Amino acid sequence: MPLERTAATSLHLMANHGARFQHDGETYEIPRYLFVGPKGGDESLRIGIFAGVHGDEPEGTHALIQFLAMLAREPRLATGYALFAYPICNPTGVEDGTRHSRNGKDLNREFWRNSAQPEVRLLESELVAHSFHGIIALHTDDTSHGFYGFAQGATLTRHLLEPALKAAAEFLPRNGDDQIDGFPARNGVIRTCYDGVLSGPPGVRPRPFEITLETPKAAPNYLKDAASVAALGAILAEYRAFIAHGANL
Ligand SMILES: [Zn+2]
Repeated sequence: MPLERTAATSLHLMANHGARFQHDGETYEIPRYLFVGPKGGDESLRIGIFAGVHGDEPEGTHALIQFLAMLAREPRLATGYALFAYPICNPTGVEDGTRHSRNGKDLNREFWRNSAQPEVRLLESELVAHSFHGIIALHTDDTSHGFYGFAQGATLTRHLLEPALKAAAEFLPRNGDDQIDGFPARNGVIRTCYDGVLSGPPGVRPRPFEITLETPKAAPNYLKDAASVAALGAILAEYRAFIAHGANL
């Protein structure tokens, strides 16, 4: 993991290798990194960023690594934030190059349903322990011709997703279809989602913002990376502005 080198030299990035589980007598790990930006307001804004939930979508993992590397070079971009990054949420699926985990499960349909899947249980405990202000998941869509996203959770989510899609559009066009992935969509924003997706703990109030970014599989890698990195940066900048202006969240 190229982040190990960055974590060894950056004052802001820390690696946390405790999230291990067993499969068939082998030990696997969900790597965790924490990026602490320069101090902003009173309380750090805690954001969880998750990639590689589907093992055949390396784009999110790459984008997250690049995003953290960029922040290590320019920490001020993360002022006020504590970013909890999970670049490989489905290590057996990544090893096998499959959407599902080696147990044959789509982990992104298993959350908050009493799942016995060890990856889901580990990630659920992270979601509870850190009570994130915001949750961002990075995915890839092999049927989409453009970049788009899902907005759930807090109402302000769609106000964060819009500038994110705009920033991404510098590199990849937005999917403007009125139907994406079987859901009604508007300007690349979908307001509904599948049951069991990675999200904040049910019942927690206030709701975190919950954004899923979907990059189109067919695009060149450097554009996919750039679009996702730009979208992540825009979300941080926009949410910081919301907080600074004391928006009623
Ligand atoms: Zn996915």
